[in-house]
Amino acid sequence: MSLEPDGTIRTLTLGPPPFCYFQPTRDGLTLMRKDVPPKNLVCCECSTDLSPTVPDREPAYNIPSPQKPKQDRWYCHDCSVSRLEAAMPR
Ligand SMILES: [Zn+2]
Repeated sequence: MSLEPDGTIRTLTLGPPPFCYFQPTRDGLTLMRKDVPPKNLVCCECSTDLSPTVPDREPAYNIPSPQKPKQDRWYCHDCSVSRLEAAMPR
């Protein structure tokens, strides 16, 4: 939104909001964002749909496998808990 000189508020037509998710990093669990949501956003353990279009969706967690650190691997909150314990430095 932007405020016009005459005081009216103009709503800009924007694309979908950026997709935010959590990812464990050296600094701990970090809120990350992608401008374009990834496809096939489902929890890899329980298949919960994590797409941003789902109303009240659960936060998504990207916890790549140590063998494929560049490849996104998605978890819902519940399934992320045990994974995070393994992924986070102590
Ligand atoms: Zn899950």
